[in-house]
Amino acid sequence: MAADSPFVIAGAGLAGAKAAEALREGGFDGPLILVGDEKERPYERPPLSKGYLQGTSPREDAYVHPRDWYVDNDVELRLGAPVTEIDPGGRTVSLADGARLPYAKLLLATGSSPRRLPVAGENLDRVHYLRRLSDSDTLKATFSTASRIVVIGAGWIGLETTAAARAAGVEVTLLEAGELPLLGLLGREAAQVFADLHTAHGVDLRCGAHVTEITGRHGRADGVLLHGGERIEADAVVVGVGVTPNTGLAAAAGLDVEDGIRVDAALRTSHPDIWAAGDVAGAFHPLLGRHIRVEHWANALNQPAAAARSMLGGEVRYDRLPYFFTDQYDLGMEYTGHVGRDGYDRVVFRGSTEAREFVAFWLRRRRVLAGMNVNVWDVTGPLRTLVTSGLPVDEAKLGDVGVPLTEVHAEG
Ligand SMILES: Cc1cc2nc3c(=O)[nH]c(=O)nc-3n(C[C@H](O)[C@H](O)[C@H](O)COP(=O)(O)OP(=O)(O)OC[C@H]3O[C@@H](n4cnc5c(N)ncnc54)[C@H](O)[C@@H]3O)c2cc1C
Repeated sequence: MAADSPFVIAGAGLAGAKAAEALREGGFDGPLILVGDEKERPYERPPLSKGYLQGTSPREDAYVHPRDWYVDNDVELRLGAPVTEIDPGGRTVSLADGARLPYAKLLLATGSSPRRLPVAGENLDRVHYLRRLSDSDTLKATFSTASRIVVIGAGWIGLETTAAARAAGVEVTLLEAGELPLLGLLGREAAQVFADLHTAHGVDLRCGAHVTEITGRHGRADGVLLHGGERIEADAVVVGVGVTPNTGLAAAAGLDVEDGIRVDAALRTSHPDIWAAGDVAGAFHPLLGRHIRVEHWANALNQPAAAARSMLGGEVRYDRLPYFFTDQYDLGMEYTGHVGRDGYDRVVFRGSTEAREFVAFWLRRRRVLAGMNVNVWDVTGPLRTLVTSGLPVDEAKLGDVGVPLTEVHAEG
């Protein structure tokens, strides 16, 4: 390895771009290469299912940095050629275009990819997945001509896409295999709010619906078949059934991979010269005491700065609580914290679920694990403090809109 070998970042999404920014801000003045398999410079994905899809926010707003930023900051952007192999011993990465790049330090920010629906017809025309800008462009065009669509999966992407389709005047049948949208994440009490929201906006929400086939004619999807035999006709089908982390490169290079690329609290992988951040990283969380992988914007925004500090030799302990947001119709929501696999034993609501203006708190043994504010703003700070304090709360105070969130701890 040459003394001036570059720092290489594999994956030019939000996490990759933010890592490049943080490395430069942290004083790294050596060569810096950001490699991406997409042809677009790094962009943020939340607008792809919201404002950009609905035509209310321009394409330019989605990009992480203006085009000139990369030149101005001497970041070499190599787009359209994925990293195909890492040689950790030789400290090189190979690219699909035949290039071989030496690196001094490597950050993996390869993100995640939509999970495919394992049924016949999944690869027909007019079956859409939503991950890239081009997917959003295709969907936007679809919404301008389709009169009815089927959305499979009532997770965040499915719900936001449904809201965008309704805003475009498209009839939507939303199919969810579980008993309610988001049931696994929010539990019955809060999941019902999202079911009611979509039903109120004219969505034909079908829970407990299992798709056995996407049907088609002349190579184009024209509906879905449900377990039990019912067929639902559609001009297009959108599939949103989760994502899987892009760990193939890391696994082939012999790095520890288990629900993402395993990294410590400093975002370092099992190899001392390789780090990982964003959707692809399963990071040890010091406050939660276990590894978690977070597939959300705020993690891809903030974690790379910690990885960059660590790459530059700093002492790092990334302990930010998971945070995410959604916008659907007139509902805006933020969620702070992490319930985790041990679950919760109680949900407390402050405010009105009917009016869709409330904060929900998930508790275990009277400690707040997570909170979700719906159409209520500026509570993320106090929520974070409630969760990180680990102190027992008084449920009556927690549920009382008149008591400030800073005064809900149990006495004694
Ligand atoms: C439509 C949509 C809406 C969303 N809305 C929200 C929201 O409202 N709130 C929220 O909190 N989160 C939201 N998210 C999630 C959020 O966008 C992700 O958590 C975030 O994009 C993760 O960033 P990342 O950089 O880790 O990964 P990615 O954004 O996946 O970027 C990784 C990049 O690396 C590339 N890559 C993969 N393999 C290679 C390789 N071998 N070589 C080179 N490049 C490679 C990928 O193609 C991609 O360009 C949304 C996601 C989507 C798709």
